[in-house]
Amino acid sequence: MRKFILAAATALFATSAAAQAPVPPPKLMIVISVDQFSADLWDEYRPQFTGGFARLASGTVFRNGYQSHATTETCPGHSTILTGDRPARTGIVSNGWANWDAARADKNIYCAEDEAAPDTTSRHYQVSAAHLRVPTLGDLMKTRWPLSRNIAVAGKDRAAVMMSGRHPDQRWYWDGKGFATDVLALQAAPRAVVRTNLAVAAQVARAEPPLQPPSFCAARAQPIAIEDHAPVGAGAFARAAGDVAGFEDSPAYDAAVLALSAALIGDMRLGKQSAPDLISIGLSATDYVGHKYGTGGQEMCLQLLELDRDLGDFFNRLDAWGIDYAVALTADHGGLDIPERLKLRGVADAARIDSDLTPAAIGEIVSKETGLAGPILANVGVIGDLYLDRHLQGSDRARALAAALAAYKRHPQVFAAYSKDEIARTPVPSGDPTRWSVLERVRASFDPERSGDLYVVLKPNITPIGHAAGSVATHGSPWDYDRRVPILFWRPNMPPSLRDDPIETVDLMPTVAAMIGVPLAPGSVDGHCLGGVGGVACPR
Ligand SMILES: [Zn+2]
Repeated sequence: MRKFILAAATALFATSAAAQAPVPPPKLMIVISVDQFSADLWDEYRPQFTGGFARLASGTVFRNGYQSHATTETCPGHSTILTGDRPARTGIVSNGWANWDAARADKNIYCAEDEAAPDTTSRHYQVSAAHLRVPTLGDLMKTRWPLSRNIAVAGKDRAAVMMSGRHPDQRWYWDGKGFATDVLALQAAPRAVVRTNLAVAAQVARAEPPLQPPSFCAARAQPIAIEDHAPVGAGAFARAAGDVAGFEDSPAYDAAVLALSAALIGDMRLGKQSAPDLISIGLSATDYVGHKYGTGGQEMCLQLLELDRDLGDFFNRLDAWGIDYAVALTADHGGLDIPERLKLRGVADAARIDSDLTPAAIGEIVSKETGLAGPILANVGVIGDLYLDRHLQGSDRARALAAALAAYKRHPQVFAAYSKDEIARTPVPSGDPTRWSVLERVRASFDPERSGDLYVVLKPNITPIGHAAGSVATHGSPWDYDRRVPILFWRPNMPPSLRDDPIETVDLMPTVAAMIGVPLAPGSVDGHCLGGVGGVACPR
């Protein structure tokens, strides 16, 4: 008996010692954002994955991650992933905002630009991380280990900028013609970039036949009629020679980003030096496919299965090179399918936004009611942060605000409208993000300098895109189809773990920081290191 207890105690000790043995940090940290990859899509497609996603699914899977803030757009979402902070702290409240004090004529500001650069507008801008108010993990790594490399590659410039921050060694994003950079020292592109750009140009110049859908995807190929728009649902990414937009809205776009990432990893020997390196990768095609075709048809099915295969090939190359790497993957936001298909699937309240819910239409109502001359609302976005026109001052401004809030609130598609004061008075939320009120979600998106004078939230399942627009589906709301995203961690030999507990994307950065040994001052970021991710020891 005594012998048995001793043996059991020894076994117990051995298990706990193994669990507590510090796992050496990886030499290359790979952080991937799949744009518009909702947890709904992850849950739906998980059984179909056999490539890179299947590999990540064998690690630690949080299927209830949250971009916890209200404005679930690309720029704010990417700003949370490697800073550990919500948009209220990163300052990236949306993809764009108004700044009446900007020195240039165009007062619209793009999130990833420097509007002080001469001869720029919010459409023809100088790419910059100037608006990001906090450091990224890559910035902190370079402070701790000056030889660490902080690299970013993405389809979208804002994804690359928000994940790498102020001190990238290399940062590459697609500019419509090839991969370009804002890092001045890199004006002579490295060979990896020249090679990839030549290969991509040759690929775009070729016509592509449609992809051959596996039966799982072919079963979804049902054309859905959309008013004033070509039907969607049965596409397979065939494209004519030279069709750049067709390339950008297809799986080939992500494949190009992964090809450049692999080329840089190989040429720069990332993960082969004494100091750890970081590469952040922004895969944007899922978002473009979602906007162009919705999320419920054959197109999204093909996109995700192709991406699964391409990610698998990417990881296999790194394995062949003998690199000691770890991966964290999440999304900048989720998404909602087109209302026409949602209705067919029984979502009775799915609809497109009414044409009388534009800032111009609401402004006319306000003018009529108050006698104030328009424009009342600035032309910065349709929903979410809205700005009173700058000519309104003093008591006129207060009257316009009150009338605009009332006009929005009585519209049947509007869930809520909040004034800037009401949002500013709301305490910053924390804890379980599923329990936050909508106003608290809006507070997590609030920056006193950049946020709007009012904030309007549509009811669930209302798509803020009318008919005859280029895009047919979108995201950006505080509802969980836009907030809930997968958060995955993988290293070789990490024991599989499927977690249902709700966490936030801001928790990714402190967890990865603990994995690679970057100390964070207590309370310096919004997120928390996640216990139980492989052998990661969170600081106490
Ligand atoms: Zn998008």
